[in-house]
Amino acid sequence: MAVKQTAGRDALGTFAPKFAELNDDVLFGQVWNRTDKLSSRDRSLVTVTALMAQGLTDSSFRYHLTCARQNGITREEIAEILTHAAFYAGWPKAWAAFNMAKEVWNQEDDGDPMSAHAASMVFPIGAPNDGFAQYFSGQSYLAPLSTEQVGIFNVTFEPGCRNNWHIHHAEANGGQILVCVAGRGWYQEWGKPARLLTPGDVVNIPAGVKHWHGAAKDSWMSHLAVEVPGTNARNEWLEPVSDEQYEALA
Ligand code: MN
Repeated sequence: MAVKQTAGRDALGTFAPKFAELNDDVLFGQVWNRTDKLSSRDRSLVTVTALMAQGLTDSSFRYHLTCARQNGITREEIAEILTHAAFYAGWPKAWAAFNMAKEVWNQEDDGDPMSAHAASMVFPIGAPNDGFAQYFSGQSYLAPLSTEQVGIFNVTFEPGCRNNWHIHHAEANGGQILVCVAGRGWYQEWGKPARLLTPGDVVNIPAGVKHWHGAAKDSWMSHLAVEVPGTNARNEWLEPVSDEQYEALA
């Protein structure tokens, strides 16, 4: 997801407009977004290490640690990164950095499973999916990511939540692509065994195939739903996935 930064203009837009522009539009707007050259995760790794090496443990360091976590650096990895850097940057600097890293990564353990799930992915959870609630069992959430060219939505399912059996119809092309981005869940086509979904899994659903998707019973799950454009595309919502069918999943 593209980085959009306004901190420069928010803090210094009047006092130092050029600095604000360079901060927001060049450093964050251009350099951080060159993800085809170096991923956001790797950029976070470099940034955190560089700030730690200077002994910077101010609010900017906390901001970049939070970004690093959001960009996919795990608790185990940040511990390894700071330990490694300690030998080159200095032991006391690592101590100071660890104190702040511990706070940032421990925020996942605030006891709220929904917050922990949100912290495990870069996409927003969005709002309760009230428009489609009648076709879902359990609570789901919807965050539109792209509403032009090709529709892309982040759909989040609470544990046990799934949508009804349904078919994406189209006279030509159409169908749907799912990309699991967080948690653990299921995809099942009519008459076939269910497929476990974990982050990074991609499901291509041709038009006309009856199927459902949702969370595992003990895990939140989010997937991107890419609506493949088709001729006269429409959705047909069918019966719910029964408790018997759902409970039978391995
Ligand atoms: Mn579908």
